[in-house]
Amino acid sequence: MDFKCVICGSSTCKVIHKTVRDSNDHDVVVCNNCNHFQLAPLPNVEDDENFYNKNSQAKFVSNITVEEARKKALPDTKRRVEFVKNYTNIDSKILDIGCGYGFFVENLNNQGIEVDGLETSESRRLIARKNSKRNILDINLLSDSTPKDYIEKYDMVTLFHVLEHISSPRKFLKNVLKFLKKEGYLIIEVPNVDDHLLSISKAYNNFYWQRAHLSYFNIKSIDLLLSNFKFQTKEFIGVQRYSFLNMANWLINYKPQISGPSFDPPKELGWLNDKYKEQLVSNFKSDTILIVLKK
Ligand SMILES: [Zn+2]
Repeated sequence: MDFKCVICGSSTCKVIHKTVRDSNDHDVVVCNNCNHFQLAPLPNVEDDENFYNKNSQAKFVSNITVEEARKKALPDTKRRVEFVKNYTNIDSKILDIGCGYGFFVENLNNQGIEVDGLETSESRRLIARKNSKRNILDINLLSDSTPKDYIEKYDMVTLFHVLEHISSPRKFLKNVLKFLKKEGYLIIEVPNVDDHLLSISKAYNNFYWQRAHLSYFNIKSIDLLLSNFKFQTKEFIGVQRYSFLNMANWLINYKPQISGPSFDPPKELGWLNDKYKEQLVSNFKSDTILIVLKK
């Protein structure tokens, strides 16, 4: 098989999941050397430009409107906005790379914070510009050079569920860091392949792997990737986005509840949900990982 690990460069791997939910031409493999989980074969930059310009990723799940997408994204948008405030002040300039429809940019802008976006999907970029009324850059960080005016312009760069989509994460991160001032913060959020639900639900396991995700990180593999760069500080934080009801839904119904209500349990069961999340976060078995890096 044509394989090159995007983290360690090794060329040997084994298949751990034959085909993915939206492509029979791709498998998921694990690197024999560093245990990184990766899609194979890996799409190239052109394949991915086509893929994202057609908004293929969104189409698989459902054809939802922008308003529906905003509503669905709201818990994440709010959580991220609150989180970044721990590392910024009112004068900070923020760049959200892979901003999608621009909900995060829009929310910060409404609070008077100077924020730009970057989005390579044309359809999403146009919507993000309209939504946020901010500057949404069109730069492919794997093929374009960084415009001079943007070098070391920002106090914070955010990558929310972006890195798993990138075919050369090392090259990508190198270019991402150019936007960031010295002492600035890079915030990375990725899905966690050590997600506990993968080990207890076969249905979730079959749904999990997808054409859009080229890398599947856990704490170890992302740390290995980040070890190629120098940071003053590095902090890992587990985040469990979905509640215990989501887990129960997978175990009982064997499918996602995409168009249904959110998975927030009734107030009276908040204690159970808190326990569930606390447990997963404490040993990095949560569905998501956040990494805070200081340049
Ligand atoms: Zn490797």
